[in-house]
Amino acid sequence: MTTATSRVAIVTGGARGIGAATALRLAADGLAVGVLDLDEAGAKGTAEQITANGGKALAVAADVSDADAVQAAVERVAAELGAPTVLVNNAGVTRDNMLFKMTDADWDTVMGVHLKGAFLLSRAVQKYMVEAKFGRIVSLSSVSALGNRGQANYSTAKAGLQGLTKTLAIELGKFGVTANAIAPGFIQTEMTKATAERVGVPFEAFIEGAAKTIPVGRVGQPEDIAALVSYLVSEESGFVSGQVIYAAGGPKA
Ligand code: NAP
Repeated sequence: MTTATSRVAIVTGGARGIGAATALRLAADGLAVGVLDLDEAGAKGTAEQITANGGKALAVAADVSDADAVQAAVERVAAELGAPTVLVNNAGVTRDNMLFKMTDADWDTVMGVHLKGAFLLSRAVQKYMVEAKFGRIVSLSSVSALGNRGQANYSTAKAGLQGLTKTLAIELGKFGVTANAIAPGFIQTEMTKATAERVGVPFEAFIEGAAKTIPVGRVGQPEDIAALVSYLVSEESGFVSGQVIYAAGGPKA
């Protein structure tokens, strides 16, 4: 997907998994990418890969749930790469537990990273988008938004992101800004590897089991999601807004 070379994107949680694949894809599309992550070394790794491929990137260490850190990170991207007009709210964590065992910290951490993080980033970048009369916000929801055993916190946050997306689409549409959510099914990353470990199943067997339940007969790869982000942040996607796209190898919604 070809996008204007002057655009600057911020991808949160860009150190690995879906975020890293997305950062690499957007850079290949011609965008300069601010790679934000808690894990500074990981963010640098992604940024260095982009630079080695001939792209432009900046690694920024920040906790997306910390308002001051988010503001500073966005300002740094604006100063060093240019005004960010593309935002991918991807940073995520899980703290799975059945409700009776779920702690306040399990709840607060997940809400802080997914929901507050997406709110803080969207609020910080909207100024640049409104000024540019162009913006693209993509947030990573999940099929878990439809409900998932052991994920009262995560499913609530992922459903919340769908509401945030629709509201941003309504509020910012007149400024040329679209907001959409992607709700992936099983994607092969460290996150699903950790889930396999938690339930005590070797990752390969976990993947094989999941693939059997997915209509296309395989689990997703980070690049499957990156390709969809690429479209949703492109110039030509401007009439698609406020949508939740399930990317799950079958009809999940
Ligand atoms: P992942 O491999 O665990 O990567 C998540 C990244 O987010 C990590 O680099 C992590 O950094 C970073 N991060 C966590 N907390 C952060 C914070 N407070 N501030 C900044 N960065 C933070 O996960 P993934 O599988 O690629 O998932 C990416 C997104 O897709 C998440 O929102 C996830 O919920 C969603 N999703 C994933 C799947 C799936 O099957 N994998 C399905 C549906 C939705 P650290 O390593 O330093 O913690």
